[in-house]
Amino acid sequence: MSSLSQNFIRDKFADYYKQHSASILPPSSLERREFGFLLLKKKVMVRHKGFRNVDDLRSSLCNIVPSDVYYSSAYYERPEEEMKAKGWLGADLIFDIDADHIPTPCATVHDIWVCTGCGASGKGGHPQKCNSCGGIKFKEKTWPCEICLEAAKAEAIKLIDVLTEDFGFSSEVLTVAFSGHRGYHVHVESEAIRGLDSLARKEIVDYVMGIGLEAKFHGLEKSATPGRRVSGPDLNDKGWRGRVAKGTYDFLLTASKEDLIKIGLKTRHVNSLLKHREAILESWNLNGPWGVVKGISPETWRKIAHYGVKKQSVKIDTVVTPDINRLIRLPNSLHGKTGLKKVVFPITDIEDFDPLRSAVAFKEGTVTVHVSVAPQFRVEDELYGPFERQNVELPTAAALMLLCKGVAKVMQ
Ligand SMILES: [Zn+2]
Ligand SMILES: [Zn+2]
Repeated sequence: MSSLSQNFIRDKFADYYKQHSASILPPSSLERREFGFLLLKKKVMVRHKGFRNVDDLRSSLCNIVPSDVYYSSAYYERPEEEMKAKGWLGADLIFDIDADHIPTPCATVHDIWVCTGCGASGKGGHPQKCNSCGGIKFKEKTWPCEICLEAAKAEAIKLIDVLTEDFGFSSEVLTVAFSGHRGYHVHVESEAIRGLDSLARKEIVDYVMGIGLEAKFHGLEKSATPGRRVSGPDLNDKGWRGRVAKGTYDFLLTASKEDLIKIGLKTRHVNSLLKHREAILESWNLNGPWGVVKGISPETWRKIAHYGVKKQSVKIDTVVTPDINRLIRLPNSLHGKTGLKKVVFPITDIEDFDPLRSAVAFKEGTVTVHVSVAPQFRVEDELYGPFERQNVELPTAAALMLLCKGVAKVMQ
C-alpha cells in the first residue's frame, strides 16, 4: 500500500479515537481482561496488554492508533502474563457468525482471491493450486455485501432464539453486535456459563448447530395406532423437536421436484408428496400425523427431516465458541478491513438493524481515490460502484472501505 494511503487511514483512525474516545466503553471487569492490538503498520499483533481503568485504555488507543482492537472473552488473575501464567478465572460464552461460513450465491460475484506467489487473481473461492505458478497460498478479499449481511443476520436471529428459548438466557445477559465486517457476535455474560471448559462449550456448539440430530429420537416414528401412520414432532413442540418440524415444514412448503430428488427420494415418493403437499401441511398445522399420505416410509421422512434440521441449524464459527482464551473485537472500535465500527445493540432491535448505516464511523469529508476493482456496495443510503481502474471522489466512509480492503489508493 502506498504511504499516502497508509497515512490517510492512520490519520482518519487517529481522528476517530480522539473524537470518539468516550464511546469506547470498557468490557465488564476490565482489569481482568487481556487486550490485543493489531498494528496498522505490517499488521503485527501485540498481545498480553492489561489496563487498570478505561482512561488508560482510551489513551492507549489514541497513542497506538491500531488497525483492530481486541479483548479476551476470559477473565484472568494476571492478564499481562504469558498464557500459562495468566491464571484463568472463567470466560464469557461467545458466538461468532460470519458470512464466510454461510454459502451465499453472491460470493462468486464479489469475492476475489489473489495468489501470493505470482499475483494471479480470480473471483469466488480460491483454487487448491494456482493455475499460473502452482502456489498454494492465497489472499482473499470478501465483501460486506447486503445479501451476505442479511444471511448472517438471519443466523444471528436463529441463534438468539435458541439461546433464549432453549437455554433460557434472559435479554440482560445477552448482547449482540455487528462485527464491522461480515458478521455478528453474540455474547452471554453470566455466572452460569463462566466456568465452562472447552468441551462443555463444544457441546453447546453441537446443540446450536443440531450436529448428529436424528429425527427418530425426536418423535419421528410409525405410530402403533390403527392405520400405522407416520407421526412426527409438532410445530409447537419446544426445543429441537419443534425446530425439526418447522425446518421440515418450511422445506416442504417450497421444495421443487428437483430439490426432493436431490436429497435422495424416489420419483414416485416425490410425486406423491407434491400431489398431497397441501394435505400434509394442513395436517401438521392441526398437530396431526406427518404421514397422511400412504406409501412414504419413516426412512423417507427421515431424509426429508434431515434437510429440515439443516435449515434450522445455526451456522456459527465452530472454532470460536470452544476457545476459552479467545480475543474478540472491542465494541465501538474500528474494523481494519472496512473502517466501519463494531456496534452493540439490543437483541430486540435485530430485525430492523441496518449495519451499513449504524456502523458508519466517518460522516464528513470526501477524498479522491484510484480504485483497481470493486463490486457495487452501499454506505448509508448511497450505492457506489462497481469500479474498475478508475479515479473517483468518494465520501470518507466509502473511500475507507476500499482503502482498507486494499483495492484503492489515495490520489495526490
Ligand atoms: Zn500463482
Ligand atoms: Zn454477498
